[in-house]
Amino acid sequence: MKRSIILLATAIVLFGCGKHQCNPIDTCPELDQLVAQCHQLHPNAFGYPVNQRSALHEFYRWYINSGLDTVNMNNVGDPWEQSSYLLSTHPFEVEVLEYFGPMYGFDKDNLWGIITNSGTDGNNHGIYFGANLLQMQTGQLPIVYVSDEAHYSNARLCDLQNLELRLIKTDSMGRMSPEDLEKQLDPSRPCLVVYAMGSTFKGAIDDMEALNAVLDKHPMPVYRHVDAALFGGYLPFTQYKDMVNSKKMRFQSISVSGHKFFGIDSPSGLFITSREVYDKQASYDIPYLNADMKMINCSRDAVQALKFWWLIKHIGTEQWSEQATAMLECTQYMKAEMDKIGWPCWCNEYSNTIFFRRPSQAIVNKYSLACGHNDMFGGDLAHVVVMQHVNHEAIDRFIADLKAENK
Ligand SMILES: *Cc1c(COP(=O)(O)O)cnc(C)c1O
Repeated sequence: MKRSIILLATAIVLFGCGKHQCNPIDTCPELDQLVAQCHQLHPNAFGYPVNQRSALHEFYRWYINSGLDTVNMNNVGDPWEQSSYLLSTHPFEVEVLEYFGPMYGFDKDNLWGIITNSGTDGNNHGIYFGANLLQMQTGQLPIVYVSDEAHYSNARLCDLQNLELRLIKTDSMGRMSPEDLEKQLDPSRPCLVVYAMGSTFKGAIDDMEALNAVLDKHPMPVYRHVDAALFGGYLPFTQYKDMVNSKKMRFQSISVSGHKFFGIDSPSGLFITSREVYDKQASYDIPYLNADMKMINCSRDAVQALKFWWLIKHIGTEQWSEQATAMLECTQYMKAEMDKIGWPCWCNEYSNTIFFRRPSQAIVNKYSLACGHNDMFGGDLAHVVVMQHVNHEAIDRFIADLKAENK
């Protein structure tokens, strides 16, 4: 009897993390394995548009020291109004939106937005707000136009919102075709167009000026939403900033991810529009929140707003500009190095995404590459997104691996 208890106790210590509680938690082998795997993959995470140089270490230190880790905060409600849930970071959220709004061409006195759960959440709001606005103006639901290389969330969200969708063809580099838009446009219905900035695999930016010129030829009311999850992070900090300017490109809303360029370590994002668009949404007065809940979500993450605010204060415009410039320079460097070893590769203008002939599965795994297929470019492809951690040294490592395979 005693022996079996000892055996059982030993088993719990050795295999304690199976279905039992880890005790103490910091010696749990399952967690150790996770940590080892993350540290191994981290420096070579090239395939997805995520800044792996998260700058939140000091934030976490402050957060724990402040004791806020024991407080369950929530940004439920409209950050611009006083809601009844006071354990929120709404004033910080508004400050973040007032920092970013003007970068996308929205004036502070005609600005509305929220910190979202993700880029997809921002697209959901853009499509929802656009459809509601057009329906209110015309009594008709719009047709949604989006390119066939745009992020899949847009088509999915049209399905979810039960909106008629027309997928517009793209040119070989992934930009929405103005000719096909013209062909598929139904001017008897309002138009809700989602511009891709950029397309998922090739990193193409829809040519908004050319597409707007097509729309201008027709009398129907138009709402433009820009899906700028990745590019909307860095373009405002470059010489190409006009491309994400709502006044220049005439869009009504934009969605940007927080975990991509900005390096927030969990999914988050910005949805920004004008006060004018927001005010025309149907009211959803919810007495128990003492709030008009025109946005889709009830609960929203209060800590994300603090992280964004922290990054504005600790990284800010100057460093983000340096990072954006360096990323585009590194993209050029990587493209040139691949050209030098004769590895077929392509890159769109303004883009930090390089797509190329797919290397071996070993390299795909080692660098967490995202894969695609396109017969126009010779078949199997992969891509790299040159984020802040993909510097010259990391690129040289990658090129050496490709070269070894190219022999
Ligand atoms: C990443 C991305 C999305 C999805 O954003 P999430 O933040 O992952 O939901 C949508 N559109 C584009 C253009 C993207 O790059």
